[in-house]
Amino acid sequence: MTHSDILIIGGGIAGMSAAFFLAKAGKSVTVLEREDQPGYHSTGRSAALYSETYGPKIIRKMSTASRAFFITPPDGFTENPILTPRGIIMTAAPGEEAQLDAILTEGRANGANFVELTPDELKEIVPVIHTDRVAKAAYEPDAMDIDVHALHWGFIRQFKALGGSVITKADVSAIGKADGKWQVTLAKGDVYTGDIVVNAAGAWADEIATKAGIKPLGIVPKRRTAVMVDVPADVKPHGWPLVASLDETLYFKEDAGRLLVSPADTTPTEPHDVQPEELDIAITIDRLMTATSIEVRRPGESWAGLRSFFADGDPVSSFDPADDSFYWLAGQGGYGIQTAPAMGEYAASIITGNGVPPQMEKLGITTDALSATRPTLVSGK
Ligand SMILES: Cc1cc2nc3c(=O)[nH]c(=O)nc-3n(C[C@H](O)[C@H](O)[C@H](O)COP(=O)(O)OP(=O)(O)OC[C@H]3O[C@@H](n4cnc5c(N)ncnc54)[C@H](O)[C@@H]3O)c2cc1C
Repeated sequence: MTHSDILIIGGGIAGMSAAFFLAKAGKSVTVLEREDQPGYHSTGRSAALYSETYGPKIIRKMSTASRAFFITPPDGFTENPILTPRGIIMTAAPGEEAQLDAILTEGRANGANFVELTPDELKEIVPVIHTDRVAKAAYEPDAMDIDVHALHWGFIRQFKALGGSVITKADVSAIGKADGKWQVTLAKGDVYTGDIVVNAAGAWADEIATKAGIKPLGIVPKRRTAVMVDVPADVKPHGWPLVASLDETLYFKEDAGRLLVSPADTTPTEPHDVQPEELDIAITIDRLMTATSIEVRRPGESWAGLRSFFADGDPVSSFDPADDSFYWLAGQGGYGIQTAPAMGEYAASIITGNGVPPQMEKLGITTDALSATRPTLVSGK
């Protein structure tokens, strides 16, 4: 039986970022990951985007709080920059201008660099767009691509260098307590003990809580589909920003000379190894062909991933109200990569009893916003 100060269940970006900061704080930490690859689920299936204007308020703050780490990670963390320029263009259809204006006003008030584009200016940047469907657009040049693999494996490597253990093929099947310590049993029979359990199981967070005798918080995994599409030889997508429709029905971005296209679907589902549905792939292609001049004869590879949300859309990073040795780190929705450095550091600081890190406090990040007992978590309002 192996004992650690902290057992983390889930080796995705949430679990590994927290593991790194906990090990850095001097804790002995073991990460238990069911798959043989820690990035197999949501972490390995994202669109890899960083935008400080995307998502709910607490997410935007956590993204801003993550920027310094992304730009200047610890020595030896990764060989290449984690962020590279991408930019985002949000398109508003006729009738949606006021909604876009509101986003521009709020973003600029928060310091975001937004440039308004006319349909003609948009077409100069992304020539395949059908501008008859666009009333105006907002360009955020500072949005970035994230090298998710470099980020995730940077955390894993540095965590291991600090003495941490990542156990893969470690399917947690039972969680109990003996002599005041957590006792976590794997499907293959191995047992790990710890003073604190961190639930970073992504879409499975409620299942892990239930196994531990903790009341679930109501996480809902939502399927999102992505399809790779070849572009005709005369179309040169390199350097295009990501283009997203304001009504959240389509986005696409260049990826190694092809397009990664998503219908931005949000279909509630059970936690599982989610695969793309034929209908969603067809919808994706249809929407791309309606919005642009690109003819898709045969879609390329496709995949789906789970974005997991609590009722109010905000993540939880806090001890459970009924057990102060069970820590929730879940519900990062569609923003778990771009917030990972700050979310990991925050979780480690709370778990080690040090409260909100000062640089996050300055950004207005409070424990209430991430608490497992906030009223909106239940009501969704
Ligand atoms: C299509 C798509 C696009 C996205 N785009 C972006 C984006 O542009 N920017 C961004 O920031 N975010 C994006 N996201 C969201 C981001 O991917 C997630 O928020 C993030 O990966 C969640 O990380 P996680 O570690 O919580 O979950 P996961 O990566 O799913 O990790 C949870 C881990 O827990 C393990 N686990 C579960 N049950 C057990 C058990 N019983 N025993 C042991 N291990 C267990 C699982 O195997 C899994 O590896 C996107 C997501 C999708 C699907």
